Amino acid sequence: MTTLALGQFEAEQRPVGAIERADPSFGPVLLRAEGLGKVYPDGTCALAEVALSVRAGERVVILGASGSGKTTLLGCLTGRLTPTSGRVERDGGIAIIHQDLRLVRQRSALSNVLHGTLARCSLARSMLGFARSERQRARELLERVGLGDRMHSPVSRLSGGEQQRVAIARALMQNPRILLADEPVASLDEFNARQIMQLLDELCRERRLALVSVLHDCDLAESFSDRILGLDQGRIVFDSSLTPSQRFDCQACRLIREHAARSGPPESMALDRPAWFKPAVFAGVLLIGLAIYVWAFSGMEIDQRQLRGAGPGLGRFMADLLPMTSAQWERLAAVKWGELVGSLFQTIQMSIIGTTFGVLLAWPLAALAARNVGPRYLQSPMRLVLNTIRTVPSLIWALLFVAAVGPGVLAGVMALTAYSIGYLTKFFYEAFEAVEPGAPDALKELGANGPKRFLHAVWPSARPAVLSSGMFMLEYNVRAASVLGIVGAGGIGYYIALFVDWRNFPAVLVCLIMILIVVVALDALSTYIRGRLVRA
Ligand code: ADP
Ligand code: MG
Repeated sequence: MTTLALGQFEAEQRPVGAIERADPSFGPVLLRAEGLGKVYPDGTCALAEVALSVRAGERVVILGASGSGKTTLLGCLTGRLTPTSGRVERDGGIAIIHQDLRLVRQRSALSNVLHGTLARCSLARSMLGFARSERQRARELLERVGLGDRMHSPVSRLSGGEQQRVAIARALMQNPRILLADEPVASLDEFNARQIMQLLDELCRERRLALVSVLHDCDLAESFSDRILGLDQGRIVFDSSLTPSQRFDCQACRLIREHAARSGPPESMALDRPAWFKPAVFAGVLLIGLAIYVWAFSGMEIDQRQLRGAGPGLGRFMADLLPMTSAQWERLAAVKWGELVGSLFQTIQMSIIGTTFGVLLAWPLAALAARNVGPRYLQSPMRLVLNTIRTVPSLIWALLFVAAVGPGVLAGVMALTAYSIGYLTKFFYEAFEAVEPGAPDALKELGANGPKRFLHAVWPSARPAVLSSGMFMLEYNVRAASVLGIVGAGGIGYYIALFVDWRNFPAVLVCLIMILIVVVALDALSTYIRGRLVRA
């Protein structure tokens, strides 16, 4: 059936879709494609010999089953994809509304619409909140698409139809003459779908846009188009402008439906493995695990006497820890507690300053190392440097800085900063890389450079993870800072080392309890703050 229909078109020997309508109600041709072909690197031929032309004010709908090449076609039209053959001519700016919208979900509707101006405004201007005239225009556009009262809501709190309207407004903010919409109503109910199509229709007429929308629904296509092109396996197999009869439209729709039914979901690719495969893998993993433990224990070299003495020794030590005798109480009372509390505060101060410097320095370094942000040539060297920093433990950093700048708080702060950089950069670039690529890609497509994409699309979604790892680092640094004093880098560690030397274990216990209180308090605070961040 399909091949017969295809044969008919081939027999006509006409480049289907290429015919330009001479309808006087349309303006000049704004978008033209000829002989367009696209073969993906894996060999998939997604488009072949596609020709198309769209005039100002004309609404072209592309209908086709899933996988027929519709998104690929739009990608070639915007220039996001490079066609393997053929060419595309555009007269005027082009904007696309993606099927998955690709909005920055954490940001308000207004911010998202303002992103449409990123290609023409400077990074500094965009950081300071965009020009007043642009803000005014964005507000007007949001009013126009019916979102006047939801401008300041984060996109994540808007309904599907409302998000679609934000995406439309962002596209219009780019001042396009050609507007492409990839399945703009696929995820909407029938009522909302009609409303959105109606809106696109009006906008196209008001602004004399060349509108190309991809649709699944034949009824919608018929109501909201001047011309329907049917795509099947990368070829245009139907063009409503070639035939006068509406009956033929329905034939095309049936063709597409049949194809959709025929293609169905792809067959499962699971390999048939023999029955022994799973147990064999299990036994293999078990053997490797056992080998690792045997190897680890072989390095212990614990002699029998030491092992036998360990129990009673530990008992004696635990008894020493608690002040039992009056002599122990006296020694405890003799400790200068004021100084000790002072050194605990110093530990916290060191951690706050060290962590802050760490965060400030880790942020740009991580951006340079992240695969989806930094310049490609810097990513690998950056990672090598950061890995090297990370391999050095905080105590070794402290030793190095004490040697470099002398004992005291400065060495401690420097050690904590270096240590924090090592870990935070890893947390940060992983957070940056975990950001969904849709929104940054969309901003790239509309002309935003790397720093703008980072600031407006990557940072908003990475922010909670970045701030919460900063909090975690602070908590961790209080613990790390409390031992730095052992090597002379300031803080309470100095006293702990001293008490251990004097075998004043009750005092050591008090110090540990003090640190514990600080850590527990910080943990509660950071849990609270992280909770707020996730909700925000
Ligand atoms: P549609 O939008 O009509 O569903 P697409 O244009 O997304 O179709 O895809 C057309 C064909 O190209 C499909 O067979 C799809 O699997 C394939 N395809 C799409 N993108 C890629 C890609 N990046 N690499 C390889 N094949 C792709
Ligand atoms: Mg698609």
